[in-house]
Amino acid sequence: MRRPLIIGNWKLNGSKKIANELISYLRKELIGIEDCDIVIAPPIVYLHLVKQALISISNIDLGAQNVDVNLSGAFTGEISVNMMRDIGVKYIIVGHSERRRYHNESNEVIAQKFLMIKNANLVPVLCVGETEKEHIRGKTNEICAHQINAILKIQGVAAFRNAVIAYEPIWAIGTGKSATPLQAQTIHKFIREYLAEQDTTVAKTVIILYGGSINDKNVAQFFYQPDIDGVLVGNASLNANVFSTIVKIAATCKYFNTK
Ligand code: PEP
Repeated sequence: MRRPLIIGNWKLNGSKKIANELISYLRKELIGIEDCDIVIAPPIVYLHLVKQALISISNIDLGAQNVDVNLSGAFTGEISVNMMRDIGVKYIIVGHSERRRYHNESNEVIAQKFLMIKNANLVPVLCVGETEKEHIRGKTNEICAHQINAILKIQGVAAFRNAVIAYEPIWAIGTGKSATPLQAQTIHKFIREYLAEQDTTVAKTVIILYGGSINDKNVAQFFYQPDIDGVLVGNASLNANVFSTIVKIAATCKYFNTK
């Protein structure tokens, strides 16, 4: 059985005050929710603060938005997987389209980061997805397969044990224009079948999230799709009320409870 997973990616947003307010609201609203996994990924400078705020909250884990490929040494400004683990991070997002676009991260660098995260016994959240142009040209499956291949090439399919894939069409991120639940389901099914060609157990157990303009109003129909295991939420995760509603919808969704 795959447990639903909801990740809030705060991106480059927040302050000490906002982080404390968000977590204290979530603490009250999400107390006792055990039917799904919840992750908060704040900016790196607030990881420690958020970890402290989460200390008495057992059902919310800490996530990071990025990590370096190196473990230590002369890499000014970088943070390693071991440092992440040291401060209590469990999940690390890799290959987000904003990192691919603004930091020129290649599939190869992303695969290296994925490997470092696995080696540190943390959970990688690999983002894949196509541009609007590629979407219109019907290239979505090809692009997602190509991005996944980078991992398969250096680590094999076993790398996706205890890993998360987030299908995030670039045209849907931060645009208010989400994919339809059926569009997303079609791609999720493709990704699962693609992995199943190499290992059916991995394919059945890997968590596949949808991300792109998810909010409390549109999320329910996504949860009813058989291959959508949860959501990666950007903007809407900065609103504690909206984010906790999304989590509650996931936790009460009957489909998950019978899966
Ligand atoms: C994201 O950044 O991963 C994301 C899905 O953003 P948004 O929810 O704002 O579209």
